[in-house]
Amino acid sequence: MTTAKQPLDDKCPRCGEPFHCGAAEPRCDCFDINLSAALRQSLAVQYSSCLCIACLKALQTANSGHAK
Ligand SMILES: [Zn+2]
Repeated sequence: MTTAKQPLDDKCPRCGEPFHCGAAEPRCDCFDINLSAALRQSLAVQYSSCLCIACLKALQTANSGHAK
C-alpha cells in the first residue's frame, strides 16, 4: 500500500485546518511565501508549529499592506 505523497499530517495552529508542511523536505509551498524576519519571529513566539499556506498568505498580505 502506498501512502499519499503529501499526507495532511499537520494541523494549522491558527485556523485548525489540516495541511502538510514540507519544511523538513527539499521543497515546501511556504518557500514561496516571503515573510519579514519580524513577522517570522512573532509567529515563532505565538505558534509552536508551522502554519498552513492559506494563513501564511493571509499574514503576508496583511503585513505587506503598510510596510512598503
Ligand atoms: Zn491556517
